[in-house]
Amino acid sequence: MYQIGIDLGGTKIEGIVVDDNYKTIARKRIPTNQVNGYDSILKSIKSLCIHLAVKVGADIAHETRNISIGVCTPGALSLDSGLIKNSNTQCLIGKDLQNDLKNILHHDVSIENDANCFALAEAKLGVGKDHDVVFGVIMGTGVGGGIIIGGKIHHGRTNIAGEWGHHCLHNEGNNCYCGNKGCVETYISGPALEKNWQQLSGLNQSLPEIIKNPNNPNFNTWKNVFLENFGSALANVVDILDPDMIILGGGLSNIDFLYDEGKNLIYEKVFSDTINTPIVKNQLGDSAGVIGACLL
Ligand SMILES: [Zn+2]
Repeated sequence: MYQIGIDLGGTKIEGIVVDDNYKTIARKRIPTNQVNGYDSILKSIKSLCIHLAVKVGADIAHETRNISIGVCTPGALSLDSGLIKNSNTQCLIGKDLQNDLKNILHHDVSIENDANCFALAEAKLGVGKDHDVVFGVIMGTGVGGGIIIGGKIHHGRTNIAGEWGHHCLHNEGNNCYCGNKGCVETYISGPALEKNWQQLSGLNQSLPEIIKNPNNPNFNTWKNVFLENFGSALANVVDILDPDMIILGGGLSNIDFLYDEGKNLIYEKVFSDTINTPIVKNQLGDSAGVIGACLL
């Protein structure tokens, strides 16, 4: 039995094929051709799947039992229509990606959003593998999350479980694209933090550059606001889910102070006198998406 995992991102499509022991047999990365539109993306995924299947001597059109195909992508499947929604790869929005891929590949395809794939990969094969209830967090351009319970994705009744990025952190706070105000994502996503830094310091810098500026007179103000929001946002999650582990992923997971000062602020805000939830960095890095797709 082999599993093909495809990570469909806004700039690249990455694919791997793994064996029963999740050993990677082959890997390939191609650019996402958004300019040529949706059909071109479908064809790219098809040629990638065929390429990977050939590496393990399989023919996807004729072998349904010996090989599976999973796709990880930003955005979610609408529960009502089955169509892709909330994707930052614009040409996917409103498309029936799952059925269109099934038709072009002549093979069953599982689709899952990137935060759920990240959480699943880390919970089963990464840093969370000895834990039952895992909350996987993606903090990057956006803020997302996935809940894994007993090795399975917990989707929830309406398929939004884990979407902590759109919890309200501040009433009448920042406007969010989702239509609400004060969402977590508008405070602790990469772009939100860069905007806040720009307003404080007048400097137009990326997050990795900002972190290298601890001596800037505005740095502590920026950092304290960031940590307060980070602490409140994840304390809310702990109060509701009380997970065995919280795993950070995405670009912001490289910020070291989240694992000590950030963790302490979560602990301060949680409604419990005994709190020791591990707040840890991911282990699989950029590969979590494709590996999660293999596990679907
Ligand atoms: Zn929102």
